[in-house]
Amino acid sequence: MQKDVIIVGGGIVGLATALKLLEGNPNLDIQVIEKESELARHQTGNNSGVIHSGLYYKPGSLKARNCINGYNQLIDFCKTHNIPFELCGKVVVATEEKELPLLNNLFERGRQNGLEGLRMLDPAGLREIEPHVNGLAGFFVPQTGIVDYKVVAQKYGELIRAKGGSIALGERVVKIRTEQSVVTVETTKSTWKTRLLVNCAGLYSDKVAGMASGEALDVKIIPFRGEYYKLRPDRESLVRNLIYPVPDPNFPFLGVHFTRMMRGGVEAGPNAVLAFSREGYRKSDIRLGELTESLAWPGFRKVASKYWRTGLGEMYRSFSKAAFTKALQKLIPDIREEDLVEGGAGVRAQACDRTGGLVDDFLILEEARVINVCNAPSPAATSSLSIGESVAGIALKKIN
Ligand SMILES: Cc1cc2nc3c(=O)[nH]c(=O)nc-3n(C[C@H](O)[C@H](O)[C@H](O)COP(=O)(O)OP(=O)(O)OC[C@H]3O[C@@H](n4cnc5c(N)ncnc54)[C@H](O)[C@@H]3O)c2cc1C
Repeated sequence: MQKDVIIVGGGIVGLATALKLLEGNPNLDIQVIEKESELARHQTGNNSGVIHSGLYYKPGSLKARNCINGYNQLIDFCKTHNIPFELCGKVVVATEEKELPLLNNLFERGRQNGLEGLRMLDPAGLREIEPHVNGLAGFFVPQTGIVDYKVVAQKYGELIRAKGGSIALGERVVKIRTEQSVVTVETTKSTWKTRLLVNCAGLYSDKVAGMASGEALDVKIIPFRGEYYKLRPDRESLVRNLIYPVPDPNFPFLGVHFTRMMRGGVEAGPNAVLAFSREGYRKSDIRLGELTESLAWPGFRKVASKYWRTGLGEMYRSFSKAAFTKALQKLIPDIREEDLVEGGAGVRAQACDRTGGLVDDFLILEEARVINVCNAPSPAATSSLSIGESVAGIALKKIN
């Protein structure tokens, strides 16, 4: 089974890459290989469903550039294919004096990233938009929206097949052999050959990269579980749309928020705790080998020794609903423990380097016959068509 390009991973990034490759050259023979029996089972299907505006990211970074380009492409895509989405906007809320300078910095960054219509709000202004919010100050971001990324990814899959690409489900890549002009990919079901391999394996992207190059990478994926609660239906009126805290610059992905979901309901969360297995959606999911690997990684140990207090706080909130509720009450004081019911969880694939840096930006590593997408954290769902376009561009140069 000789292919032009094989893409490992049927999440939103792998699928967007396949789609962009077929748009760039409709004659290519493209194969996506996904280990699960359906597309988008992992990060793509278990996220907050927010269309990010590009507010947070360092101007000029891959995240900033891809977010705005990806945002525009995603909106066009949803309109063209009748995928429900809403640009409902969000409020970012400072609840303590010490957050006010960070709030102002974030507002400025949003402007530098080209966002229009940002509006600073005093407490009364905040309550006009979100009547139950408590804050010293905040601002409104009109561009932020909501969508169901599983629906988006499934549409990408449908179009890939319609354009002649193939998707194999239920096949896990277990071995890769890279030679000068061909890459051999062994799965749990078959053996494939390809001119180029693109690794979009999310939580296992470091493992697949290791299989392809024969040596371990200098970054490791550390899985962080994000747990959600849902508001009881009769208390959903506490939240109109999206309510976010001011992020901690050291951990921009921390800080529980409220999100109205496109498929209905309001979610509160997610927190971030070390997952004891890479696809560990429940506290009880443990894979000893994977846990030991995370704990033994020098970079993770450095992060843990530096930020143990933050980590313990997240753990505590994971086990104590009262503590989770208390964190939410900073934004909405009227929330009570009994308003919250268990929601789902997602696991973030966070690349961590050897020296203890949590890789912040998207990370794409190239070899002669392999492209590895090694870090595609949030907002990679928003940015998928832009990341896919970049990866497809690199791939087309390599095979043409
Ligand atoms: C809790 C949470 C909240 C988030 N919120 C948002 C948000 O609101 N907005 C936003 O833009 N982004 C958000 N993100 C980030 C976003 O979901 C991810 O960046 C994006 O889904 C990454 O897509 P992916 O295709 O790289 O990974 P995935 O969706 O994880 O896909 C990777 C695929 O590779 C497959 N795979 C792995 N190993 C193999 C193998 N050996 N063989 C075959 N297949 C394999 C997996 O089964 C999986 O389907 C959030 C993420 C999380 C976890």
